Amino acid sequence: MNNMTSDGALKLAPTQLLIGGERRDSSDGALMDVYDPATASVFTQVADGSVEDGLSAVEAAAAAGPGWAATPPRQRGEVLRRTFELMTEHAEELAHLMVLENGKALRDARSEVAYAAEFFRWYAEEAVRGFGELGTAPSGANRILVMRQPVGVCVLVTPWNFPAAMATRKIGPALAAGCSVVLKPASDTPLTALAIGALLEEAGAPAGVVNVVPSRKSGPVVSAMLHDPRVRKLSFTGSTEVGRALLHEAADTIVNTSMELGGNAPFLVLDDADVSAAVEGAMLAKMRNGGEACTAANRFYVHRSVADEFSRGLADAMGHLVVGPGSDPATELGPLVNPAAVEKVEELVAGALDEGARALLGATRPDRTGWYYDPTVLTNVGSTNPILGEEVFGPVAPIVVFDDDEEAIAAANDTEFGLVSYLYTGDLARGLRVAEALEAGMIGLNRGLVSDPAAPFGGVKQSGIGREGGHEGMLEYLESKYIAVQW
Ligand code: NAD
Repeated sequence: MNNMTSDGALKLAPTQLLIGGERRDSSDGALMDVYDPATASVFTQVADGSVEDGLSAVEAAAAAGPGWAATPPRQRGEVLRRTFELMTEHAEELAHLMVLENGKALRDARSEVAYAAEFFRWYAEEAVRGFGELGTAPSGANRILVMRQPVGVCVLVTPWNFPAAMATRKIGPALAAGCSVVLKPASDTPLTALAIGALLEEAGAPAGVVNVVPSRKSGPVVSAMLHDPRVRKLSFTGSTEVGRALLHEAADTIVNTSMELGGNAPFLVLDDADVSAAVEGAMLAKMRNGGEACTAANRFYVHRSVADEFSRGLADAMGHLVVGPGSDPATELGPLVNPAAVEKVEELVAGALDEGARALLGATRPDRTGWYYDPTVLTNVGSTNPILGEEVFGPVAPIVVFDDDEEAIAAANDTEFGLVSYLYTGDLARGLRVAEALEAGMIGLNRGLVSDPAAPFGGVKQSGIGREGGHEGMLEYLESKYIAVQW
């Protein structure tokens, strides 16, 4: 990346906390390092929020909440619409910022900015549609009036893999519903969140409506906020492990929760599938964001009759990916986010090979500085290979062969996760039957990408509770109040 772009990106992102419309250092003066995964070196520092800062942000959000809730929905929508426009105007800087702190390829970062901004446009349109209901009680004695009211102060906790979209997917509906928020972004990627906070301010979000508190002390900071009785909502995106711990914490004060957790997506290729379309879909489902997506295809189940053709096709496509620093526009696969991520992928692949898998491609680390792992395709993967039970979160595709649909469905469902499943077949009716049987909140049917701000995103089983996006996304930030009325 040239320095001009890097400087422009960094100019967009303040490095202090955003609390009550003010830029602040952390109360104890602590700073945290932000790393560039392509060079494995620190490129800036950001204020490292303390428990006290988290609670100040809750205070600011609580103070701003009633005014924002009373702001006409159209006006709230206009702030979101203006933020969409500002994100679009600054799309290049935002994309470069994400490349810097996350490592992802510029093309992935550009798509993410467009996807992330779209949540503001969608919820600008939804803000004016928070309608209630009116009906007659079955007895005829009275009317049933249901109104929707903002849930209150929301704590939003987001992961590093989509630093922009995971934040806007929460802030958009929360603000549309009339809630004020405290965003705690992932420690590896605080800058994008701070930049989005600044754009919301510029778009006219009143002081205190959006607060951003990065912190490396996530546990204590989030816990303190959840135990503050002014906080009424937790929306979390991240691992199932941390989500489970936060559900325990939220139980203490019965905080309303939305949970977008881990995935272990199966990708099924039936015997009648168009194999080249399946390979194309697999490339998207597996390699978008370098495999670091909760929606990433994690396990491939391919019918025996097409398994060789599919495996060779996928290895060929993955083998042609250009690996390099995300800032180079030619790069198709950037580094992983941190050294722990690389170690985890290495361990999973080594374990899979020990259990009899064969590397058709990769299973290696390139010889370069930075946190890279090569595109990898594993065949001869037995149905009990441990790699199938873990979220790989990297550019690795294990392929399992199956003989009939029932066997594939049973294998796909044999997991505690249930976020998304992918399925390729030439027969749509058969595809819909299999889709019904798959235990997942979302299905990609002859399609390797499901995410869409207009659609309800979320999982079943241990992949989460609630939905983000679509009409349903705003309901997560609204309470229904029922009034029994007689007239
Ligand atoms: P993570 O669970 O480690 O962290 C997520 C967030 O929680 C971060 O902000 C982190 O700082 C914070 N956190 C960590 N420990 C905490 C604690 N004890 N208390 C409070 N907060 C804490 O997840 P990650 O590594 O950032 O992200 C990857 C995970 O996120 C994967 O499992 C992926 O599947 C999942 N994810 C899910 C979705 C979805 O929509 N379902 C989307 C993206 C990512």
